[in-house]
Amino acid sequence: MGKVLIIGAGGVGTVVAHKMAGLPKVFSEIMLASRTKAKCDAIAEKIGGNRIQTAQVDADSVPQLVKLIRSFQPDLVVNVALPYQDLTIMDACLETGVSYLDTANYEPKDEAKFEYKWQWAYHDRFKEAGLTAILGCGFDPGVTSIFTAHAAKNVFDEIQYLDIVDCNAGDHGKAFATNFNPEINIREVTQKGKYWENDDWQLTEPHEIHKPLNYPNIGPKESYLIYHEELESLVKNFPTIKRARFWMTFGQEYLTHLRVIQNIGMAGIEPIMYEGKEIVPIQFLKAVLPDPGDLGENYHGETSIGCRIRGLKDGKEQTYYIYNNCSHEAAYKETGMQAVSYTTGVPAMIGAMMFMQEKWKKPGVYNVEQFDPDPFLEELNQHGLPWNELHNVDLEL
Ligand code: NDP
Repeated sequence: MGKVLIIGAGGVGTVVAHKMAGLPKVFSEIMLASRTKAKCDAIAEKIGGNRIQTAQVDADSVPQLVKLIRSFQPDLVVNVALPYQDLTIMDACLETGVSYLDTANYEPKDEAKFEYKWQWAYHDRFKEAGLTAILGCGFDPGVTSIFTAHAAKNVFDEIQYLDIVDCNAGDHGKAFATNFNPEINIREVTQKGKYWENDDWQLTEPHEIHKPLNYPNIGPKESYLIYHEELESLVKNFPTIKRARFWMTFGQEYLTHLRVIQNIGMAGIEPIMYEGKEIVPIQFLKAVLPDPGDLGENYHGETSIGCRIRGLKDGKEQTYYIYNNCSHEAAYKETGMQAVSYTTGVPAMIGAMMFMQEKWKKPGVYNVEQFDPDPFLEELNQHGLPWNELHNVDLEL
């Protein structure tokens, strides 16, 4: 039982707040803070029961964060703002002696590049302070990393080939929209592809490698090899992995829009002058695209995200597919948010629960796969994201 401070009142923050509010024995007091306090107030009001306190904070400012943390005195800060704020929030946690959890690794604003090195560099400081930092506790990264840890612990003697497969077969009825923050999403999917093989990273052109994959309850969907952040920590933490790849489905319409956006320079992250004012094209684009938080109402269909793994058990090669399917409609009915926010927010709540229950608590900075996957996966089944497993099936990869 403990006090938690959630930072970020977007789609994911809404789900985290909803889920935590329903568990007063674990989360005795909850504060939701973000740049725009009115958004926090609206979420708190919808949840009701005076369960959520709210506050305004600019999470780019360490002094503002320190002041807020000192006044509320949480046991844990859950960062579901943007990846740009990871380091300032970690700095504030160190200064105030509070543990930390997030769902996306740090990304500098002026460079479309995400890497764990900046956050891993905090390990010794968190360790010396006796504080825990849990990195990447959404769905991917997050549940996919925990699925991999479960396979390594409970299914195989040695995992060798890992393919993370992420399908969104939902339809929101818009010509083009992103399922989470457009700026972060477009930066992620337009970069070069990258995967791990032969003890090194292999680079591809964006969306160069693709093939149809069959997803349970959905059917075949064209899936594109992209780089995704959990690959970096998984190949480090499971050195028996010979090849690790990440596949994501995209529709033709989405890719065509993306190509146009890039070709006309709207995905740019360098500031340009417009009518005497500096603007960043991708930030302007975010302002005109649909808000991912508003997509839920007409969103139909399911997401299906999982891990397809090949490895050795008792000297024999085995295959294993572990996945969750999540319905956009069901997620919206429960929390007012679509499945992409839901599948990120539920794991963040469970990671926070693991910390509060001292099941995931060790001084230092850790990726989720470095904790025991068993208690987390038990809770995942209880809180809206049940998982399924298939043994010795054709992995198609
Ligand atoms: P949104 O853009 O919907 O929400 C982000 C929230 O953070 C907004 O409320 C925003 O405030 C707030 N914020 C932004 N900058 C600041 C700041 N400087 N100070 C205080 N608050 C700030 O994003 P999502 O909810 O979709 O995503 C949240 C996080 O989850 C992101 O880091 C994203 O990368 C991650 N994510 C992880 C996934 C996973 O599976 N691991 C999948 C999807 C997302 P305002 O309302 O004022 O703009």
